[in-house]
Amino acid sequence: MTTAAPEAPHLLPTYARFPVEFERGAGTRLWDRNGHEYLDFLCGISVSSVGHCHPKVVAAVREQAGRLMHVSNLFYTEPMRRLADRLAASSLGGGVFFCNSGAEANEAALKLVRKAKPGGEVVVLHNGFHGRTYGALSATPQESKQAPFAPLVPGFRAVPATADAIRAAVTDATAAVVMEVVQGESGVLVIPDDVLVAAREACDAVGAALVFDEVQTGMGRTGTLWGYEQTPVVPDALTTAKALGGGLPIGALVTGPRLATVFEPGDHGSTFAGGPVVAAAALAAFDVLDDPELLARVRELGEHLRARLEELPRVVAVRGRGLMSAVDLADDGGPSAPDVVLRALLEQRLVVNATGPRTIRLLPPLVVTRDEIDEAVDRLRELL
Ligand SMILES: *Cc1c(COP(=O)(O)O)cnc(C)c1O
Repeated sequence: MTTAAPEAPHLLPTYARFPVEFERGAGTRLWDRNGHEYLDFLCGISVSSVGHCHPKVVAAVREQAGRLMHVSNLFYTEPMRRLADRLAASSLGGGVFFCNSGAEANEAALKLVRKAKPGGEVVVLHNGFHGRTYGALSATPQESKQAPFAPLVPGFRAVPATADAIRAAVTDATAAVVMEVVQGESGVLVIPDDVLVAAREACDAVGAALVFDEVQTGMGRTGTLWGYEQTPVVPDALTTAKALGGGLPIGALVTGPRLATVFEPGDHGSTFAGGPVVAAAALAAFDVLDDPELLARVRELGEHLRARLEELPRVVAVRGRGLMSAVDLADDGGPSAPDVVLRALLEQRLVVNATGPRTIRLLPPLVVTRDEIDEAVDRLRELL
């Protein structure tokens, strides 16, 4: 089965896009411009966790768009105030800086920790991913992403994700350790508790900040509102974006009390950030996702999905937490993960993605049903 790629000569080729143009979405389903229906187990890379076009999010956006869309950060708006309260109350209790993406949330975190400890070094982990802007890219120690864009921002040190490596790297010169609790873009690598505890203790010993990048793990993806809630460690700050806006672009840096007084007027900013429409969408997404029943179901369905994935041929490893999962395929001369993903899309109408030559990642909306999980696994089985 073939699908002609839509022509888009004026899009810079920063993405190797699939030859499909989507037109409509509802819940766990997408429809392309030919009317074909797809089961979406990627949800815009963990963005549409409430499902596509969730009625509560759509209603909030419609209502707010007709009332007030933008005034800038020189003024207050009620959606922004309420969202800051909600973010702080549900996590670290300090202050919130709004921005428009995950990379920007990490940029804010990097500026914050540098200001808290002037000139300090930032320790990051191998296989980490923090975004594509210069500061976030400098925190993303992957040769293929960094090398063409040198020189990068100085003052970053990358170490393996082990307790010993972190203890050795964190010194009096360290401003922060910035890390994910589950590394998403490198194939859903769950960071072991002993590594998180070592990072917490090392930061405490030298007065450095521990920052968790929860851009992918946050907003319920791992089965608790924040990924750190399933670990023995509480960070000094966290960053969030992706699912926060229920499908609209918004990011945030959330601090604990200690870091809440570091930024002063003029230190950082963003014209659009935390605008009323995206903040209203995020409040609606919070109403859907910050729900103990839904979160318990995310944990249970995640276990179910991984148990089903274990049964598939060619699958040699299954990893994940909550509804953030990945499988590794055997290096047996069979089709690569990118090939399987393309055929899943075109032949099985199942949307998943490959994070590497042998790894397929599954990030279904958190409102997915058990039947849809079984259906997705059956569609994958056809190709393995
Ligand atoms: C996606 C992601 C980012 C980057 O977010 P953008 O919105 O694409 O800038 C940063 N950190 C993690 C962990 C991510 O998964």
